[in-house]
Amino acid sequence: MVAPPRSAYLHIPFCHKRCFYCDFSIIPLGDSAQAPGSPGINSINAYLDLLHREISIAPRGPALSTIYLGGGTPSLLKKDELGDLLRNLQRKFGFQDGAEITMEVDPATFVENDLKGYIDIGINRFSLGGQSFDDITLASIGRKHNGSQLIEACNWVNDLFKEGMLRSWSLDLIQNLPGLNLSKWLIELEKAVKTEAPHLSIYDLTIEPDTVFGRRHEKGKLNIPIESEAQKIDFVTNRFLKSKGFSRYEISSYSLPGHASRHNRVYWSGSGWWGFGMGATSAPWGERFSRPRTIAGYKKWLDQQGSQFLERTLFKEKSKPMPLDELLMIGLRRREGVHLEELAKNVGWTQKECDKNLELLHKFWLNSLNQGSLVRKNGRYFLSNPKGMQISNQVLIQMFLWWDSLN
Ligand code: SF4
Repeated sequence: MVAPPRSAYLHIPFCHKRCFYCDFSIIPLGDSAQAPGSPGINSINAYLDLLHREISIAPRGPALSTIYLGGGTPSLLKKDELGDLLRNLQRKFGFQDGAEITMEVDPATFVENDLKGYIDIGINRFSLGGQSFDDITLASIGRKHNGSQLIEACNWVNDLFKEGMLRSWSLDLIQNLPGLNLSKWLIELEKAVKTEAPHLSIYDLTIEPDTVFGRRHEKGKLNIPIESEAQKIDFVTNRFLKSKGFSRYEISSYSLPGHASRHNRVYWSGSGWWGFGMGATSAPWGERFSRPRTIAGYKKWLDQQGSQFLERTLFKEKSKPMPLDELLMIGLRRREGVHLEELAKNVGWTQKECDKNLELLHKFWLNSLNQGSLVRKNGRYFLSNPKGMQISNQVLIQMFLWWDSLN
């Protein structure tokens, strides 16, 4: 039986404009997002009504231990707008004492006082979308902020953290951006560590087809580091951050002791979570369910289906956990990897099925095991660091081939 979810994600889809690499479900509002009487205000109000409605008609569940306000750019909203959402969520589920409540914030959308307002409504962890400290790089990826605004934002957040008003905070950077090389990246890392952020998310740039970068890439006009350079960059990231006391607890996540994100660990552990909002994915009982990615589609979905549909959608798989291939895909992202047999038995495999199928998977993984990118220890399989984490795709491709061979 899958344990009921204790985590919730709320999607706030508004941004000033779309960054060149981004294919998230967002609504670009331009510069005057919150100006009185602007169309942006109407969009925000209309969306918040829908979001409140979805929370209100959702089934009840146990008190939440992690809540994540992501986007988009949640810091485009006022503290009272976010506070109302949190209160609605709390009325529905309740929050556990000490629940981790994270909010994504983007530089150039807030000042220090705004952060204090967000803390007043219950936020105790900020995730700051920095991406780069370099002005030319930031402009070339379509970000609104510049390097000095990012440093200023980091200082504001870190001051609040040092005053004990936050339990933690995180800074996002993207490695392998166009025009980047090893020496430029080292400068980025040094600046990141200087901010004193206790958690760093270091993402690889992903080229999504329907984006500015996707189109440039197709025409061969995107100057991103070649694979060997990208691997060197990842190697240096890992070594540098390790030397500064950070531990890589997941492929893209580095933390100082005690600062791993509890919410993200829920996703990677295969436990369920609630999701609310346009484009949001939820998996309360196992299998994922994604909401429509446009506001019109999301509204139609809520209007047409109402609470009955939600109950059906969210509960129909109540006894069916997340499929094993997905559990492996997300579980392998973590430093501790996965215990194959335990996972397989959790999803209902018999000992006979485990013996037969997992031995076959071991064969599919033999190359990765022999090359040292995948390690087996006491029934647990995990990616080596940095080698395995850099080429995790190869291990996953073998796993999916094995999965297809079974089905
Ligand atoms: S700020 Fe974030 S969500 Fe918004 S467009 Fe840029 S990358 Fe996408």
